[in-house]
Amino acid sequence: MKTPLIPIDILSIYKNKAGNASPLPSRMAQCTPDTHAAIFNIAKDLAKKGGKLILSDLFRSYEMQAQSHQDYVSGKKKAFSPAPGGSFHEAGRAFDLDLSEIKVSLADFWKIAAKHGVLPIVSEPKANQSEAWHFDCRGSHQLVYQYYADGKGTNFKPYTAASASGILSIGVHVDAFGANQKQAAIQSCLIRLGKVIGNIDGQIGKNTGKALDELGVKFDLKNVDGMLTAVENLVQQKFPGEFVAA
Ligand SMILES: [Zn+2]
Repeated sequence: MKTPLIPIDILSIYKNKAGNASPLPSRMAQCTPDTHAAIFNIAKDLAKKGGKLILSDLFRSYEMQAQSHQDYVSGKKKAFSPAPGGSFHEAGRAFDLDLSEIKVSLADFWKIAAKHGVLPIVSEPKANQSEAWHFDCRGSHQLVYQYYADGKGTNFKPYTAASASGILSIGVHVDAFGANQKQAAIQSCLIRLGKVIGNIDGQIGKNTGKALDELGVKFDLKNVDGMLTAVENLVQQKFPGEFVAA
């Protein structure tokens, strides 16, 4: 099956009419099951230190990401926001938080987050820099990141490849793959299953055939849906926490 998105009930920076903090609005309050678990585990650890995990953003649909990118391009929004297809927000795997509420240093927060598989997007724990508030739960897509970082894929930067992989895995369109969304999703699955198949580009052929064969899946270009379901099921067996809420 595809990686599902599940609703998450978490406090946000947004206030209700009475001026009290309200939950993250439902259009944003969706994430993968492993991200859901990570967020609550981080919140629990933070609570022990007197801090709160208060979110300002989580899931973005294709349209929401396009708007966010447009706001960056037009200068309405200062923080960088990539075009659709390049953000873990679109995979339900990234969140932005209110750093003034964590009550621990950003360096300490990084340690707490890392314990639960959540990584910052900036390279140093300096709270005053742009995007210091953004964190990703990359899950198995970290394998895609590493694959590209190791030079086994060359058509994207590692971060873009990993986020595209995450977006494909929930069944959302990634422009870079045009009419070959399912083929690209098969490639993402194969990489996460440890296979080396070249780039994620939606062009499947010899390399994909060989990898599928090794996994006991029949390579049949007339049955792309069947191949995708088969490899998604293998990914689910390998990473069950990404498919079912703990
Ligand atoms: Zn963000």
